[in-house]
Amino acid sequence: MSNCIFCKIVRGELPCEKLYEDDSVLAFMDIGPIVKGHALVIPKAHHDPLTDVPTELLGKIMTVVQRIARAQRDGLGADGVNIHQANGKAAGQEVWHTHFHVIPRFANDGHSWNWRAQKYEQREEMQALAGKIRGALPS
Ligand code: 5GP
Ligand code: ZN
Repeated sequence: MSNCIFCKIVRGELPCEKLYEDDSVLAFMDIGPIVKGHALVIPKAHHDPLTDVPTELLGKIMTVVQRIARAQRDGLGADGVNIHQANGKAAGQEVWHTHFHVIPRFANDGHSWNWRAQKYEQREEMQALAGKIRGALPS
């Protein structure tokens, strides 16, 4: 993908602060960290959306996500880690090359999620939604 920023990073046409790479996965620092130390993990090949990433490759990406999270814990002394993946415009995705955010968390780091837990008024509503998801699960 010639215009994709993350493909340009993979090709070395744009700089990045690299953390790790292998044949298929690259991890680097996010230039706009929501908490300092925030990293991104991407497949080197252009895939988007997440639902189109080949499963074997996704396994390799997640292995690197876990390694970066461990390194943030051990190297930065992170008290916790958030993994975030925006998939689609409605989910806030801005770069259209699948990526995982690995965000180190510290007590009093000043970040908080705008997480509004809603309620199902009727259990049937949840059951109906669950039924639709189960019915659409690929075999
Ligand atoms: P999204 O909103 O798509 O999940 O996240 C895109 C992320 O990519 C943002 O956190 C943003 O800071 C990061 N980002 C955008 N452009 C660049 C870049 O050129 N270099 C790096 N290292 N990160 C970038
Ligand atoms: Zn790309």
